Amino acid sequence: MNGKYLLDSLKPHILVGTVKDITEEKKAADLLEQKIEERTRELKLVNDQLKQFTYSASHDLQEPLRKISYFIDMLMLNLSPTLNEQNKKITERIQHTIGRMRALIDDLLTYSNTTLGVTGFEEVVLTDIVKDVLDDMEATLIEKGADVKFGELPNVKGDHRQLRQLLQNLISNGLKYHKKEQAPEVIISAQTVDGKAVDGNIPQEFKKNKYHLIEVKDNGIGFDPDDADRIFRRCQRLHGKAEYEGTGVGLAIAQKVVENHHGYIWAEGEPGAGASFKVLLPVE
Ligand code: ADP
Repeated sequence: MNGKYLLDSLKPHILVGTVKDITEEKKAADLLEQKIEERTRELKLVNDQLKQFTYSASHDLQEPLRKISYFIDMLMLNLSPTLNEQNKKITERIQHTIGRMRALIDDLLTYSNTTLGVTGFEEVVLTDIVKDVLDDMEATLIEKGADVKFGELPNVKGDHRQLRQLLQNLISNGLKYHKKEQAPEVIISAQTVDGKAVDGNIPQEFKKNKYHLIEVKDNGIGFDPDDADRIFRRCQRLHGKAEYEGTGVGLAIAQKVVENHHGYIWAEGEPGAGASFKVLLPVE
């Protein structure tokens, strides 16, 4: 230290500034934070209760519907020899409507189950799931003369039941929305990709990591690209019941499953030129 600096540092210093008491502001900020935490806790509770309610409502509706269905079947059995054509048609329509209601309740139950999240992550072999799903669909595949191909699929960490549901919904849609004059073809493929290299309008947060990109592509009727987001909303259908049976819940379930696995799903299509459903699942 030189002598000049020592002398300079001994000179009296004048500090100019303002002092403000921020106790009140700090108190207000703390109070606000506390209020937000309380509200978030309350909202989460209400949300959980609502999910539980939807689950039990759909679950409890199944039982009476099963009974109605059973009694109608009995009635049909006893009455069928005496029924004229018109009344036969009416009872058939009742049975068909019950079938639709049952499918809707089943789908809503699956949906509300899926909103409850994932109970545990385990190693899931996607190839086994696809084989299993196709095995279950054997009758439909034969009936439609469908051709389903799949390449090498990865193993991922996830909920086996939910991932099965996801692939089942996408594959069965690929088979269902086929052109009347053409047998359905569905191709399931996968590759590892860098989020930032993915084509398609994916949210920014998915640009950072590596993903398995799983694609379920068909040669069916396709859809208007403007509807690509809408079809994932619950009970949104682009095609009429009379043409294609369905509840409009399958893709909402698929989206929920993908969200539960920290992934992203989107759809690409052109009218008359097939549809492609793409899923990003994180690489561990
Ligand atoms: P659902 O098939 O029971 O109607 P989804 O939620 O699975 O319900 O699908 C919603 C809508 O998206 C369908 O009604 C259909 O209009 C459209 N869609 C789904 N998959 C396909 C596909 N592979 N090709 C063309 N349209 C599709």
